[in-house]
Amino acid sequence: MSGSTLVIGAGTNLGGRRSILRAARDLVAHRFGVADLRVAPVWETAPMGPPQPDYLNTAFALDFDGSLAAALDLCLDIERALGRERRERWGARTLDLDLLWHASLSCDGAGLTVPHQGLRERTFALDPLLALVPDAVDPRDGTSLAAVRSALPVAGPPTLLGEGFEALPGDRADALAAAAEQVGAVNEGSRTAAPSTSVKLELSWADGLRDDERLRAWVASVTEALDARRLVLRRAAVIEDSERLTRALLFGEARSPVTRRR
Ligand code: ADP
Ligand code: MG
Repeated sequence: MSGSTLVIGAGTNLGGRRSILRAARDLVAHRFGVADLRVAPVWETAPMGPPQPDYLNTAFALDFDGSLAAALDLCLDIERALGRERRERWGARTLDLDLLWHASLSCDGAGLTVPHQGLRERTFALDPLLALVPDAVDPRDGTSLAAVRSALPVAGPPTLLGEGFEALPGDRADALAAAAEQVGAVNEGSRTAAPSTSVKLELSWADGLRDDERLRAWVASVTEALDARRLVLRRAAVIEDSERLTRALLFGEARSPVTRRR
């Protein structure tokens, strides 16, 4: 760990949660300009606040020398890019990015508190943070965050789902996102593309559609959208999926005429 380590907490409880975390990881790396983002394991946790689905929580660590206010602006931009709509406090969201902790910076101002105000009470934030920086201390008073975590009650510990969220078993929304990435990868060089451009995709479903029909229609729409925008796909995040409607964001980079083969 260096004196400029920043840890960002990520949580999601809508849509294809794994697809959203994958896209969030890529967008954080891209927008913060870091090649070596470190990613914590993923925990599935019960929600705080009004009744809503369970969360997936993880955290990202990076070296960051800018201001905390600039980091917050980047995080809010990424939340919006992944379809976040602010409705009620602590309500369900496609993506929540919080500045959890910085190794040497702290801030207590209007609209920004770092370490995060709830950090010392929230196991779903402390666990991913400590997975990345086991010896983290509060820069304001030197308190060990591992000691803070140990003092918290362990009633109903979160479920640890595993390292590397690529391989987690998914639901239909995640499967649709994975299928989009698969078909996008048929286009050239998708793994090296930066997630700099996004396309919204919204499909309304007819009644009684079978899953295989839905998948075919989905893949055709993805291909069409990528071709129309001449986009190399990097990530697909499904932000809403119901029997009637699926909404997704396709992230990628414009194909350059030089590398285009067709
Ligand atoms: P929460 O994360 O508590 O569920 P929100 O994501 O809706 O709530 O946060 C709303 C506001 O909290 C942000 O717009 C930001 O101004 C403020 N905020 C204060 N401290 C932080 C922090 N450390 N990280 C992220 N947001 C913060
Ligand atoms: Mg937040």
